[in-house]
Amino acid sequence: MEQRAGVLHEVGLELLGKARELAEASGGTVAAVLLGENVARWSGRLIEHGANLVLLAEHPLLEPYRLLPYTSVLAQAVRQYQPAIMLFGATSLGMELAPRLAARLNTGLSAHCIDLKLDANGNLLQMVPGWGGGVVATIKCPAHRPQMATVMPGVMQKCEPAARSGQVIKLPIDADLDTSGPQVLEVHREEPKGRPLEAAEVVVAGGWGIGGPEGWQLLEELVGLLGGAVGATRPPVDEGWALEAQMIGQSGKTVRPRLYIGVGISGMSHHVVGMEGSEVVVAINSDPQAPIFEVADIVIVGDYREILPPLLDEMRSRLQGGGKK
Ligand SMILES: Cc1cc2nc3c(=O)[nH]c(=O)nc-3n(C[C@H](O)[C@H](O)[C@H](O)COP(=O)(O)OP(=O)(O)OC[C@H]3O[C@@H](n4cnc5c(N)ncnc54)[C@H](O)[C@@H]3O)c2cc1C
Repeated sequence: MEQRAGVLHEVGLELLGKARELAEASGGTVAAVLLGENVARWSGRLIEHGANLVLLAEHPLLEPYRLLPYTSVLAQAVRQYQPAIMLFGATSLGMELAPRLAARLNTGLSAHCIDLKLDANGNLLQMVPGWGGGVVATIKCPAHRPQMATVMPGVMQKCEPAARSGQVIKLPIDADLDTSGPQVLEVHREEPKGRPLEAAEVVVAGGWGIGGPEGWQLLEELVGLLGGAVGATRPPVDEGWALEAQMIGQSGKTVRPRLYIGVGISGMSHHVVGMEGSEVVVAINSDPQAPIFEVADIVIVGDYREILPPLLDEMRSRLQGGGKK
């Protein structure tokens, strides 16, 4: 489970949903591992969401999250309980912690899985998009345990919370908990602007084809009129036109809005896996062969700099005329 500053991350509950499914297929047990200080209060919620066991490690040195103390506690828990499978959210925390732990335990790790299943021998089949997302590679780790995988938030389904019984077990914390490495001196929290991307009913996403920050302004204006949030592919994030938190796709967020408008986006599968669940997809691209058109309900071929300004004018005049958003 992942928690920061008193907030339990939803991805943990999503992983519990998948873990429950795998445990039911194999007769296994689901354990939720919770580290921090004063975190025991979430145990009941984790049991309701599918955990048979909550393994609890509470210690002042485990708050806030730090890589080395977390790795020590988890490695010790793995040696004690010998899980067959261990799942992490592909969040910034999980993407740092899971590989460290895998290396410590001398086992493998598949990053950014889009699905997980068991084969007849109980091996975990870890589905990962490869070759620019054109294929889905199935990865197995038959010779080492635990089998480890990270999964993006929003990919797995939580199970319906239900009254279930479960056990809470306190993990022993070694007196020599590894506290070397970076220290947290101060925490700055960046307040998200507007609605979070994952919750927006309208997402306007921009790609490399936007060409620069001036073009980005048009996307902001469109979102201002429609209500919603601006998303991005990876290149605009790399260029600094958009924030990391706005990236949609395999290494970013998964969105399922009622309306997704992709502007200047080619439609590489690394991006498409994060938006293909959208209800209606509109794509604007100057290349008639752009792959995004394959997943689009409405296709607009042309230069967005010619398409968006008249569209914005038309929307403004309809809104001024008393039209609904
Ligand atoms: C391991 C891995 C993980 C990745 N994870 C992600 C991820 O999570 N999210 C993500 O987005 N990417 C991710 N990527 C990168 C991904 O593979 C693509 O490179 C990226 O999605 C391409 O972004 P794009 O469509 O904006 O750019 P491009 O592929 O360069 O496409 C730009 C498009 O804009 C069009 N265009 C140009 N000018 C105009 C104009 N004036 N008007 C209209 N259209 C125009 C072009 O025709 C083109 O189709 C990942 C890559 C790897 C290797």
